[in-house]
Amino acid sequence: MARMDFHDRTVIVTGAGRGIGRADAMLLAKRGAAVVVCDLGGDTDGDNPSAQPAQDVVAEIQQAGGRAVASTESVATEDGASRIVATALDAFGRLDAVINNAGIFAALPFLAVDADTYRRYLDVHYLGSLFLARAAWPHLVDSGHGRIVNTVSAGMYGVANYVHYGAAKAAVWGLTRCLAVEGEPVGIKVNAVSPAAGTRMLAQTGDSLPPGTIDFVMQHMPPEQVAAVAAYLAHDSCVLTGEVLKAGGGAVARSYFVETVGILDPNVTPEIVADRLDEIMNPDRAKPVQLLLPGTQTAVSWFPEK
Ligand code: NAD
Repeated sequence: MARMDFHDRTVIVTGAGRGIGRADAMLLAKRGAAVVVCDLGGDTDGDNPSAQPAQDVVAEIQQAGGRAVASTESVATEDGASRIVATALDAFGRLDAVINNAGIFAALPFLAVDADTYRRYLDVHYLGSLFLARAAWPHLVDSGHGRIVNTVSAGMYGVANYVHYGAAKAAVWGLTRCLAVEGEPVGIKVNAVSPAAGTRMLAQTGDSLPPGTIDFVMQHMPPEQVAAVAAYLAHDSCVLTGEVLKAGGGAVARSYFVETVGILDPNVTPEIVADRLDEIMNPDRAKPVQLLLPGTQTAVSWFPEK
């Protein structure tokens, strides 16, 4: 495989002032990309914004001979997203890829989370990714090989004290699938990473993860290993769309929806569901759920195979 190069490409990386986003920005800049380093610069839960983290990463890239510009806008508003895209166009004249990585996190008990906090998590993770994708879209079409890389989390599989965060990440997974369908006719590929890396956010997970997890990840799973996967998904040569790649510690794997063969009974009753639960749940011959791309006959197999 030829070395993947990003010369003549402009990439927006959100949350690029720290952690995984910083590693994404550094790697892309090193490979020739002009990078918009977008970061609100707040605490892990989003409070106390500061321009410093974004400015520091820009300075680091420029000192190494790369091209970068800072944006300290929040991804969580439509206006902010528009200004982030405008910064890319003003500074570099084009836009080829967006890495939606910005995120906030705190482990919080379900009933202790108020409505405003639930909305804030959706605003940053889900609407932030959506608004930026929408503002960037016409320019990604113009690019001819537009790429969007979203960021989900294993938290969406179900982890204690993650309802506000995990469900927002699941929304980003759905966004990734639906945008991939919209992007296919116009040359835009939309995928996501599901990362694990030693960052300040990981250090906040507390008792939610098994004992020893935080220490292990901090020592053995640097953000640069996630950045390698995000960079592939942001590159012209990426062939995937609508996919999620788990990335961390050098492990790279496909995470995907499957559907079991299940049962078919037009007279289905609650009792039949209970009686045939083993067949319904049986993972043998389960299939990946396909995107309903243009020309695809069906996204979900309603009928069991013969
Ligand atoms: P981090 O806290 O080190 O970095 C996140 C960055 O996002 C921060 O610099 C923060 O200022 C920025 N940010 C937050 N809200 C913003 C907003 N509204 N607009 C612009 N910037 C904003 O965390 P990280 O671990 O590097 O996380 C990066 C992404 O990976 C997040 O989406 C997170 O949910 C996801 N993630 C991380 C892990 C992990 O193991 N570290 C696991 C699963 C998912």
